[in-house]
Amino acid sequence: MSSPAENKSLSERLLLGTTRLASKTWPIAKRIFPETLEIDDNRSLWVSQTPDYQPTSPLQENISADLVIIGGGFTGTSTAYHFSRRYPEKRIVLLEAKTLANGASGRNGGMMLNWMPSMYGYSPEMTRRIYQMTWAGIQAIIDIIQRHQLPVSYRLDGTLTAYTDSHRAEVAQEEAEFHQQIGIPMQFLNASALKQKLNLQSAYGAVIDPNSGQINGAQLVRALRPVLQEQGVEIYEQTPVLSIQEGSELTLKTPNAEIKAKAIVLATNGYTGKLGYFQDALFPLHSHVFATAPLNPSQLENLGWHGLAGYADDRDRIAYSSLTREGNIVFGGGSNQAYAYLFKNRTIDSDSPGFAKNAFNKLTQTMETYLPNSANLPIARRWTGVLGITLNRTPIIGVRGEHRNIYYAIGYCGHGVTLANIAGQMLTDMYSNDDQQWRDFPFYQQPYAPIPPEPFRWIGYQMFTRLTGHSPRV
Ligand SMILES: Cc1cc2nc3c(=O)[nH]c(=O)nc-3n(C[C@H](O)[C@H](O)[C@H](O)COP(=O)(O)OP(=O)(O)OC[C@H]3O[C@@H](n4cnc5c(N)ncnc54)[C@H](O)[C@@H]3O)c2cc1C
Repeated sequence: MSSPAENKSLSERLLLGTTRLASKTWPIAKRIFPETLEIDDNRSLWVSQTPDYQPTSPLQENISADLVIIGGGFTGTSTAYHFSRRYPEKRIVLLEAKTLANGASGRNGGMMLNWMPSMYGYSPEMTRRIYQMTWAGIQAIIDIIQRHQLPVSYRLDGTLTAYTDSHRAEVAQEEAEFHQQIGIPMQFLNASALKQKLNLQSAYGAVIDPNSGQINGAQLVRALRPVLQEQGVEIYEQTPVLSIQEGSELTLKTPNAEIKAKAIVLATNGYTGKLGYFQDALFPLHSHVFATAPLNPSQLENLGWHGLAGYADDRDRIAYSSLTREGNIVFGGGSNQAYAYLFKNRTIDSDSPGFAKNAFNKLTQTMETYLPNSANLPIARRWTGVLGITLNRTPIIGVRGEHRNIYYAIGYCGHGVTLANIAGQMLTDMYSNDDQQWRDFPFYQQPYAPIPPEPFRWIGYQMFTRLTGHSPRV
């Protein structure tokens, strides 16, 4: 989805400058570091584990449909799944600009988590309901995998949040005790109990959620394709939607064909602004991740990692890490360098070798501060994905337009592995006017906090992140 070089913004050109330089020096670099090309083609570990996947042909002829879903990640495929089961007689079309799992769903950190990205200020009852909703969502993902016998690697042996400040650790302990009282199985681990699970440096303690885990999102989304097709969904990959004309019947333009739709779903998360929607609601943030080669039991023992699907820290620029069933450690975040916002909400899916090399150097340094014995681990893949971040860290789910026929579920703020898979059920219930169970959740049909327009947005973001080391939020 990258645009011609002359149309690129300053920030994008700067980012790409590094890439170009890397490409020019590439023949030399390749001789010296022959393994680097393999790991720097921006293919995620998750996608590399679906080696035989081929995209479908693009849409070539004009068609009409009852529902057109734009975007083939968790939101798009979960909507297609639930909608086609509820309405087998309707014509449902899913359009994906590149390949299924091209976006964050195939490029994330792999943590399958409970909660929403921000959990402050809710009543005990709402806190309990949000946890129950996400735990039911995780169980539904596993049910779908088992029901359709999908070849998806996952584990469900718990993740933890580590506290790097003694005061925050004390507060977290009180909070975990409160959660237990209201029926949520969180458990506080003091520093020595934490060491039995994970030997993390600089942590004063952690809260473990036993009902969470890790999953290969690309395998999930791509393995669902034949199931969706079997349920009657038409899937056209390599088919970007170029424009949307609103009306009681919407008209969507793609490179080779036009579609008339009675309703559409924006399942485009961080890319949604490009379609002309929610430009003031989302920061598309580029987030960089790497994965080690599969580690053997003695390498994991040496790291001090025992039977745990992953962890995140308590800092604003969250560092997170997960462990696959095959033994790869995935690591991302932890610094300003690990995230990039490009002028005017631009997004890049760079396939260039050497992309964001500085960010990756910083990532490995951050990982070493937590896990000092990780210094010489073999790196298998490095990649970048696009997050959809809202200012108040609350997702945005609802329906809009004069004809109430533009459905959307976006802005999961780095927490969408579970939430975006639940979104398909919510949107199907909303369409059916059968949505009582969702109505009072804080992300459902709620106004969002608007982000100032450019150039203030870009300047404000750069200044704020550099001065504070935090990401803007309200
Ligand atoms: C680096 C990274 C790490 C993350 N780690 C975690 C984690 O550990 N745990 C967690 O819970 N969440 C994590 N997330 C967030 C999570 O992955 C996302 O919230 C979730 O995948 C969003 O799914 P989605 O289907 O809404 O969007 P996406 O997966 O981004 O899918 C959107 C799709 O729309 C397509 N598209 C865009 N424009 C068009 C168009 N015009 N026409 C047609 N198609 C279009 C894109 O190609 C893309 O495939 C992470 C995200 C990133 C980037």
